[in-house]
Amino acid sequence: ARGLPRTAGSTDGAGVPGRPPGPYDGTVRALLARMTLEEKLGQLQQLPWEYNTGPGGPGTKEVEQAARQGRLGSVLNIFGARASNALQKIAVEESRLGIPLLFGLDVIHGFWTTFPIPLAQAASFDPQVAVRDAEVSAKEARSHGVHWTFAPMMDVTHEPRWGRIAEGNGEDPYLTAAFAAAKVRGYQGSGLSATDRIAACAKHFVAYGGAEGGRDYNTVDVSEARLRNLYLPPFKAALDAGVATVMASFNTVGGVPAHANTHTLTDILKREWSFDGMVVSDWNGVEELIPHGVAEDGAQAARRALHAGVDMEMTSTTMVTYGKRLVREGKISEQRVDDAVSRILRLKFALGLFAHPYVDEGGEIGAPTPDARAAARTAAARSMVLLKNDKGVLPVGRSVGSIAVVGPFGDSGDLLGTWVMPPAAQKFPAVTVLDAVRKAVPGGAVRYERGVAAQGDDTGGIPAAVAAARSAEVTFVVVGEPAALSGEAAARSDIGLPGAQEKLIEAIARTGKPFAVVLVNGRPLTIGGWLGSAPAVLEAWHPGIEAGNAIADVLFGRVDPGGKLPVSFPRTAGQIPIHYNHENTGRPYDPDDKFTSKYLDLPDGPQFPFGHGLSYTTFHMGAPSLSTDRIAVSALREGDTVEVSVTVVNTGSRQGDEVVQLYVHDRAAAIAQPVRRLRGFRRVTLAPGSSRTVRFRLGAEDLGFWTHAPQGEFLLEPGAIDLYVGNNSATEGTCTLSLT
Ligand code: BGC
Repeated sequence: ARGLPRTAGSTDGAGVPGRPPGPYDGTVRALLARMTLEEKLGQLQQLPWEYNTGPGGPGTKEVEQAARQGRLGSVLNIFGARASNALQKIAVEESRLGIPLLFGLDVIHGFWTTFPIPLAQAASFDPQVAVRDAEVSAKEARSHGVHWTFAPMMDVTHEPRWGRIAEGNGEDPYLTAAFAAAKVRGYQGSGLSATDRIAACAKHFVAYGGAEGGRDYNTVDVSEARLRNLYLPPFKAALDAGVATVMASFNTVGGVPAHANTHTLTDILKREWSFDGMVVSDWNGVEELIPHGVAEDGAQAARRALHAGVDMEMTSTTMVTYGKRLVREGKISEQRVDDAVSRILRLKFALGLFAHPYVDEGGEIGAPTPDARAAARTAAARSMVLLKNDKGVLPVGRSVGSIAVVGPFGDSGDLLGTWVMPPAAQKFPAVTVLDAVRKAVPGGAVRYERGVAAQGDDTGGIPAAVAAARSAEVTFVVVGEPAALSGEAAARSDIGLPGAQEKLIEAIARTGKPFAVVLVNGRPLTIGGWLGSAPAVLEAWHPGIEAGNAIADVLFGRVDPGGKLPVSFPRTAGQIPIHYNHENTGRPYDPDDKFTSKYLDLPDGPQFPFGHGLSYTTFHMGAPSLSTDRIAVSALREGDTVEVSVTVVNTGSRQGDEVVQLYVHDRAAAIAQPVRRLRGFRRVTLAPGSSRTVRFRLGAEDLGFWTHAPQGEFLLEPGAIDLYVGNNSATEGTCTLSLT
């Protein structure tokens, strides 16, 4: 009740300062003028539909009634042309104003055609992978009446314990920003009214990935500098790509829950960045301001959320319930309500819903097309990261006579990952590794033994797996995490392989026969002592519908593994947070000096660094060269750039992919800087013996940084910037740029 925050200069977060007139402004204003306050508040409400229930089914009566009475703006989890048209008909034909409903759904990495999880996609270092996922998803979803996806998720995180790391693009803001923008472009295309596009949603705003201890929904206390340098850049990139909506996050940011956070939602998003799209709450996020301890009741929760800048309320119903009273008592201005409604109506117009509220019932895409499957297969294969390949076990020649496939994921369809459309998992399961291996070597004998379960301690099946390995020329050990161990509300304190899977690997290693470990997981894993005895390890993540085929493509060398880790792999969970873009201390690690930053019981650094990944061929990267080694800060401010070029040569005997990576480090700045920051990457495919010169441009945005000033300030200072170019974040290839 006391001391609710106010935004300087206005009663609440209404309006978009400096916004130029938009195409739907006049129409929206005219419609607003005809709406009662109840109807306006109705537009702010989003209710859930039950999966798999037709019109009139359980849980749907209230939704239909709300639509009829104009107390509803949007519905989530409805899809299928018939079901969505039937509900739309109620809104359009039976409500007083006939305003169409907006249908939203979590289409995270596929609708029917499940692509690899977003974390895997980031490992491709090829944003085109994300574009293809989003295009295929948009087309399939829109044909089922879906207008809007709650994606892409762009929460940068340094927390592999956090299950939602699977849904994002890892630990780096630059890489995440590139993928966020790519996904937005893929979903939205050049116009939302197209029948193969959907509106995107940048989520979760903001710093959700900072959850303390990696426990989902947990507290985040973040400095203004870290907020702006680490968590905000992907959202800015999504906005620049034209994202239609933004979703608030479940966490607090400096004590203020994101749903009540005027600083992030209104000051930064809507004012500083002039975002004129719609902000949706997360599931129950408005009402949860009560357990968060910043609202006494639903009325206060509604007031705080509206005031902070939330425009649409998902599932809880505080705005529609208390909005009228809040306006009457002067606690929320009708102007703020109008602003929220306008944002929603503009989106409905942009989607063409007033002109075409219904979807063509004959046009549903009923199954993944061959093209969509091919795109998912390419995406999955490009996402895989060869962590280790010591003895050249991989790739395996197709003339191999006998193969053993062992491990709980060798003959399992649990390879789709988190956030899969429930009917998609049933109707269009993942291709198993066993089936794909059998297909890949039609002449070979392929034997499968599970060995151990994905979870649980039973080791009774190990002897049979060992026997299979002994009788085969090569063994694939397919181990990992069930999908249910990553995603929302799926934090783990121990991020090793669950159950007895490590024991299975150790037993196979003791046979002395060649084998490769294939990991299928939704987060970085701590890789136990078995790493030393495993000749080859392929990180396949949760690869999606074409999982087995894509894994076989890489194992048999049809595709060269060219993915790189988008996140560091820690040695132990006790080392977390460990990420490449950390700051130095005054006592940086020194193995010979006790009083430096270290653990007594661990070597320095992660097991595998950000950007790491091997190939079946070899590359040589020359020294980076600069178009100039001195540039004035003033010139950079005016838009000048420096070109960094490096030549990469395929020195091996096979075609392969390499990812050229550019990192910067500001030696002495106003505030401590990350030891390295990714500022450019390019994936190239090179034939044996051929070379390519890759060029990057560095400008003010790449070389400056945000400080802690109360509202954040972007600084570009004179001084030395070290540039590193190589094929992982630990690369030593360096040169220096002087800013004068
Ligand atoms: C998640 C969101 C999701 C929403 C709707 C929430 O629990 O945090 O990411 O979009 O549910 O399903």
